[in-house]
Amino acid sequence: MPRKLTIAIASGKGGTGKTTLSTSLAAILVERGEDVVFLDCDVEEPDGHIFLKPQGIQSQPVNVMIPRIIPEKCNFCGACGDACQFNALAVLADRVMVFPSLCHSCGACYHICPEKAIEEIPREIGTINYGNGQGVKFFEGRLNIGEALSPPVIKVLRSVPNGSRITIIDAPPGTSCPVIEAVRNTDFVVLVTEPTPFGLHDLKLAVEMVRAMNLPFGVVINRADMGDDRVEKYCKSERVDILLKIPFDRRLAEEYSEGSMTLISNPEYAGGLVTLMNDIKKRIEKNGTGDSQR
Ligand code: SF4
Ligand code: SF4
Repeated sequence: MPRKLTIAIASGKGGTGKTTLSTSLAAILVERGEDVVFLDCDVEEPDGHIFLKPQGIQSQPVNVMIPRIIPEKCNFCGACGDACQFNALAVLADRVMVFPSLCHSCGACYHICPEKAIEEIPREIGTINYGNGQGVKFFEGRLNIGEALSPPVIKVLRSVPNGSRITIIDAPPGTSCPVIEAVRNTDFVVLVTEPTPFGLHDLKLAVEMVRAMNLPFGVVINRADMGDDRVEKYCKSERVDILLKIPFDRRLAEEYSEGSMTLISNPEYAGGLVTLMNDIKKRIEKNGTGDSQR
């Protein structure tokens, strides 16, 4: 039985074409008979639905556990406040204040309380929505407005039971905790960039991140004919493989703004995506890793 593959599409910054690439890859694999799950882990601004247009959407809440003080048991000893690394508890003379939005659900206060005066209660911070879009099994995480903690939502999304052979992950932009949660334990990471000074700066950070995580990866340059050659020179000097270059095409930009999946409706680009996917599969199968840099 062929092994399951999990491929993350990431970028050091937003606006590089990451979602266009990830949704197009998912859709074109389905067109070729693959069983594909798409996870939109960009939970602060999920936009994969604009392109895959999922139907029959169902939702489930994502909860984190936060402390609730049982007043009749608490003696205001202060141990919970001292234990909390996130300033989510303030122990006063006659009460303990809990600041839910600061709580990271670490459980330290619950375990340290000598009086068993803390219970854990759920707090909803987001939702998981799921449906079917263009034959792709579509899942997105959505952080509630005003919430700051996206990793717990991404963690739930990544743990959705999934019997499909291929999982495509649209990671959040950047290189901080949410991205790390989205790309961890994947088989291959595609870093999408553009040939500009900003693109190069953020690509360097993204390369450092995936190397630190020991993940195989390669680069896709979007709007490849629009900037300069510094990204290519950097990749060469760092022995980072460039997997695909997508030229700037006004039709792509226009149809993108309308939510169209031009990359798969245009035979030239569709062929490039199939080649990209075959290349990634070979890299994963070779020694169980990509031969790009770990
Ligand atoms: S550790 Fe327990 S008893 Fe002490 S202040 Fe916190 S809740 Fe109250
Ligand atoms: S669960 Fe952790 S982060 Fe939340 S209040 Fe308790 S110690 Fe602080």
